[in-house]
Amino acid sequence: MPLEMRVIPCLRDNYAYLLRDPETGRVAVVDVPDTAPIFTALEDAGWTLTDILITHHHDDHIGGVADLRAATGAQVWGAAADAHRLPPLDHALHPGDRVTLGAESGAVIDVPGHTVGHIAFHFPDSQLAFTADSLMALGCGRLFEGSADQMWHSLQALMALPDETRICSGHDYSQSNGAFAKSVDPGNADLQARLSQMAQDRAAGRPMAVATLALEKATNPFLRASQHYLKQAHGMSGVSDTAMFAHLRGLKDTF
Ligand code: ZN
Ligand code: FE
Repeated sequence: MPLEMRVIPCLRDNYAYLLRDPETGRVAVVDVPDTAPIFTALEDAGWTLTDILITHHHDDHIGGVADLRAATGAQVWGAAADAHRLPPLDHALHPGDRVTLGAESGAVIDVPGHTVGHIAFHFPDSQLAFTADSLMALGCGRLFEGSADQMWHSLQALMALPDETRICSGHDYSQSNGAFAKSVDPGNADLQARLSQMAQDRAAGRPMAVATLALEKATNPFLRASQHYLKQAHGMSGVSDTAMFAHLRGLKDTF
C-alpha cells in the first residue's frame, strides 16, 4: 500500500511533507522548517511522528528538528557527509543507503549542487521523490556550494527515475520559476499549459511544489539544457549540456 502524504506549508514559502505507512502506522516528516504547522498537521491527522528525514543543512529545512525530536522522540535520518552541520543523527546516511518507513523503504540519492551534502529520498513503491532544493517545481536550487557540473549530474540522476514519480520540492517558487521558464523557453506549449494550471492552483490556494517527473522534463528549463532547440535559441548551439545548464542557471541568478 502506498504511503499517505500531507503537504505542509511552512514559513514563507517552504514545504514539509508528512508520510504515513498505512500498514505499520509509522509517520515521517521530510524537513522541518518550523514546528507549529507540523504539530498541527499531526494532530489534525491523528498521526504519531516516528521519523524525521533531512535533505540538507539549511536552516529553513532543519530549524525545527531539535524541538520536534525532543517532543516526539522521532529518529533523525540525514547525510553522514553533513553530520557536522546537521542536528544529531540517529541514522547517518550514505548515497545508496535506504531509509525504512514501516513496510516501505526509500533510496538515498546524492544530489549535490545547492549544497554539497544535499540528498534526496526516493520511495519507488509510492512513486514519490523528495528533492527539496535540488530539482524544484519548474526550477532548481541556487548553486551555493556545488558547481554547475555537480548540479547537472544531480538533475540527471533524478531524471533517471520513473516518469510517473511525483517530485516533491522544498519551496513554492512557482511565481518566479514560472516567469523565468517562460522567458527562456517561450515557445514551449507544455510549459504554457502548466503555467495556466498553476495560475488556477495559486488562485485556489493549492500547493504547487509537487509535479510528476514527466511534467518537469517537459517544462522545467533546467531539465531541458540538453535540448538542441533551446541551445540554438540561446545562441549556444554545439555547447555541452553542462555549459547550457550553467548558462541557464546564470540567467536565473540575475532574473
Ligand atoms: Zn536550501
Ligand atoms: Fe530551502
